[in-house]
Amino acid sequence: MKFDALVIGAGYAGAVTARQLAEVGNMRVLVLEQRDHIGGNAYDCKDDAGVLIHQYGPHIFHTVEKRVYDYLSRFTTWLPYEHRVVANVHGQLMPVPFNLDSLEIAFGDRAPALREKLLAAYGPEQKVTILELRKNTDPDLAELADYVYQNVFVNYTMKQWGTTPEQIDPATTARVPVFLSHDDRYFQDPYQGMPANGYTSLFARMLDHPNITVELGQDAREHLIFTPEGVKLDGEVFAGPVVYTGPVDELFDCRFGRLPYRTLDFQFETHPVDWYQTRGTVNYTVDQPYTRITEFKHMTGQEIKGVTTIVKEFSKPYSGTEGEVPYYAIISPENTALYEKYKALADALPNFHLVGRLAEYKYYNMDAIVAQALDLADRLLKNKKSE
Ligand code: FAD
Ligand code: UDP
Repeated sequence: MKFDALVIGAGYAGAVTARQLAEVGNMRVLVLEQRDHIGGNAYDCKDDAGVLIHQYGPHIFHTVEKRVYDYLSRFTTWLPYEHRVVANVHGQLMPVPFNLDSLEIAFGDRAPALREKLLAAYGPEQKVTILELRKNTDPDLAELADYVYQNVFVNYTMKQWGTTPEQIDPATTARVPVFLSHDDRYFQDPYQGMPANGYTSLFARMLDHPNITVELGQDAREHLIFTPEGVKLDGEVFAGPVVYTGPVDELFDCRFGRLPYRTLDFQFETHPVDWYQTRGTVNYTVDQPYTRITEFKHMTGQEIKGVTTIVKEFSKPYSGTEGEVPYYAIISPENTALYEKYKALADALPNFHLVGRLAEYKYYNMDAIVAQALDLADRLLKNKKSE
């Protein structure tokens, strides 16, 4: 069969691009996916006990973008779910993001006075990053900032990134600000929830189009050769657009050195109880070698009695060893400069396009990838029209 477009990777970036090109552009699209399943890191499946789990870590959908929500809603209905997380601080549980209720749990009688000072300084319902709060010179607020830094951020960040909050991209800790509110949801986005039949089913519907062919277990690097005339697929120059959603350094044999990533080891445990913990996720912010424990049934709404599955996440540097997955780009000026060198090689290839969390070397949530892929597909379809 002849194809008009080639997409590498069947996660959000690849699946959304493929669907748009196939449906709106009436292009025949070949999707190559190296894993034996679709969905990328959002893939879910039932484990041996019948519990629906997220194989590559807990995924909660949330967005402020209506067009993203509407787009995905074509392929799924949603279960209402609002993620609530607590930190385990020496056995005491308190909401994360650290909020006015956490303040009360941590400071007891002193909380009202601290709350008044906080509200006077920043205003009600405001979000303040921990790095910002640490700049406050008021002695009481400085003490509070130090408490939050020590008990919520420093150990968790050391576990997750191997370094302190000051040494990582400030946008990372800004994802979980101190929140001057009683709202204990992890996200305040207007659209949030879980796909009613799971993520994999959402992907199956998105990729179910007569113009789309998905080939699993196919590492594109084994089929593609890069030449100045274009990308050769199985020996012949491929005329249409090639969309790549994997790590860009690996395309070029890591010739400038590996792009740094963090990877995770997931430890899944099934327990013969209805519930293991009271929340979807408990962050271990002062002790334990893992960062967090997630119990899937809270998130998926699955009703199954007498059994539950949890996952513990252990972070470490990505080494590129077979079987390791590059989960988190380590954003820094130096790493971004290295990424740009690889991107320049990719940009020099005719009709070759990078999209996705790996290919763009960004800390993107699912919704951002959907938006990026929709934009890329629009650009490709516009080019096609003007040809
Ligand atoms: P991926 O999902 O990584 O898909 C890329 C695909 O390309 C993979 O299937 C890969 O196998 C394939 N591929 C790569 N190279 C090749 C090759 N050479 N040949 C063939 N195939 C190839 N986002 C949220 O919005 N909410 C959350 O709660 C959330 N939780 C997360 C938790 C964890 C632990 C992690 C790591 C991420 C989380 N995310 C979350 C982010 C989310 O996973 C990503 O934004 C999204 O899945 C990225 O989609 P993608 O298509 O860019 O990449
Ligand atoms: N973080 C922290 N303590 C927490 C939660 C988050 O120190 O209890 C920091 C940590 O550096 C983490 C970052 O904030 O990597 C972003 O957290 P988020 O929960 O958004 O991470 P993700 O779900 O993407 O792994």
